[in-house]
Amino acid sequence: MPLCKTCKERIDLSQPYVRVNICWKCRKTFCDLHFDKSKNLCNRCLGISKEEMEARKGFRFSFIRR
Ligand SMILES: [Zn+2]
Ligand SMILES: [Zn+2]
Repeated sequence: MPLCKTCKERIDLSQPYVRVNICWKCRKTFCDLHFDKSKNLCNRCLGISKEEMEARKGFRFSFIRR
């Protein structure tokens, strides 16, 4: 089973809607959270820091709540 190289989480391919994301730059596998599907790049190659990820998540949460 592939692992996300960022969070070390297993990507469960037995789930029908789960697809493994492979960064075209570093050729590593990533979960949805650490991968930009529109660019086919992992967050590392995109240059997004962990802090930025957290900020994004927070933003999304507050957006949903409103
Ligand atoms: Zn991940
Ligand atoms: Zn990458």
